[in-house]
Amino acid sequence: MGIPIYFHFTFLFIIPIFAGVFALTSGDIFGITLGYYGIDIALAWKIVLGAICAILFFFTILLHELGHSYVALRHGYSIRSITLLIFGGVAQMEDTPKQPAVEGWMAFVGPGVSFLIGLIFTPAYFALDGLRNPGVAVQALQVTCGILGLYNLLLGAFNLIPAFPMDGGRILRSFLAKRMGMLKATQTAVKVARIFAIGMVVVGIFTFNVFVIFIGFIIYVGAADEETMTKFSLALEGVKVEEIMNPEVLWVSPSMTLNQVLGRMMEEHRTSFPVVEDGSLVGVISAAQIDRVPKAQRDTVTAGNVADRAPAYARSYVDATEVLKALSDRKDFVVVLDEHDEFVGSITKDELLSIVTVLGVKKAL
Ligand SMILES: [Zn+2]
Repeated sequence: MGIPIYFHFTFLFIIPIFAGVFALTSGDIFGITLGYYGIDIALAWKIVLGAICAILFFFTILLHELGHSYVALRHGYSIRSITLLIFGGVAQMEDTPKQPAVEGWMAFVGPGVSFLIGLIFTPAYFALDGLRNPGVAVQALQVTCGILGLYNLLLGAFNLIPAFPMDGGRILRSFLAKRMGMLKATQTAVKVARIFAIGMVVVGIFTFNVFVIFIGFIIYVGAADEETMTKFSLALEGVKVEEIMNPEVLWVSPSMTLNQVLGRMMEEHRTSFPVVEDGSLVGVISAAQIDRVPKAQRDTVTAGNVADRAPAYARSYVDATEVLKALSDRKDFVVVLDEHDEFVGSITKDELLSIVTVLGVKKAL
C-alpha cells in the first residue's frame, strides 16, 4: 500500500521477552496452552519456536494496523506511516476523517481483523486437540495456533474498550458525532476515556497489577491528546496558511556565526530562524541545534554549517491544518513558501499555539 512500516526501538527488548515467555512457560487460559515449555523437545527448539511465534504475533498486529490503513486509503485519506509498539501499533494518519461514519468504520476494521485471525486460529487449536498421540511437530503447531488465536481475540476485545486512544474510543466518538458534532463528541468520548482510565488505575492498585495501572495512564494521556488535536483542527478548519503565518520575514544569513545568531534570537524573542542566502532558503536554525555546538566553537561555526537543510515547510495557499502536520514531525518551525517557491513567512509552534487559542475564542469552540 506504499506505507512505511517502523518498529519502535523497544522492539529490541519486546521480541526477546515475548519469545522467552512463549518458550519457557506453558500456562493455560480457557483451556488453551500458551507456551512451548511442556513439549518434549530440546530447550533450543523451544526458544526457536518462541521467537518464530513472537514474530508471527507481531505480524498479526501489523495486519490489524493495515486493516485500519486500508479503509483510510479507500476513503481517500493518506497514512504517513505505521509504527509497531509494545501494545500494538499506531497508524499515523495525515488527518482525522471528517465524516464520523468513515472514522467509525476505520476504527472497527482493525479489531475486526484481530477477531478474524482469532476466529481462524482458536478453532484450529481445538481441532488439533482432538488428535490422538500427536507428534511434537503437531504439538508445536497447536501451541502456535493457540497463542495467535487467543491473543488476537484478546487484542480485538481490548481495542474495543470505548476509551481513547483505543479503537473503541473512536467508534464511540463516531456514534456521538452524528448527534452532537465533532467537538462535543470528542469531549464526551474523552470523559468516558478518563473514567475508564481512573477505573483501571484504581483496579490496578487494589489488585497490585502494574500492567493495568500502566494502561490506565496511557489511556488518560492519550485521551487528553485527542481532545487537544480535535480542538486544533477545528480551530484551523477553513483557514489558509497565509492567514496564520508570520509574514514578517525575519531571517539570518548562512555566514553569521552562531553567537551572532543567538544575539538575533535575543533581539527578536524567538528560538528559530530561516537561513536565507540571496533571497533563497538554505535551511532553518534553532536554539536547540546551536546548543549541540560547544560554546568555544560558536564564534567560528556559522549558521550555514549547522542549519537543518530539510526544514518543515507549508505552502501559503493550502489549509492551515498542513502546518499542524508539518509541526508534528519533531520540528518546531515551519517555513511558508508560495507557489513560486518564494519564502513568504514562517510560523513557530508557540505562534501556532497563540493563533489556535485566539481562533478558538473567535469561533467560540
Ligand atoms: Zn487498532
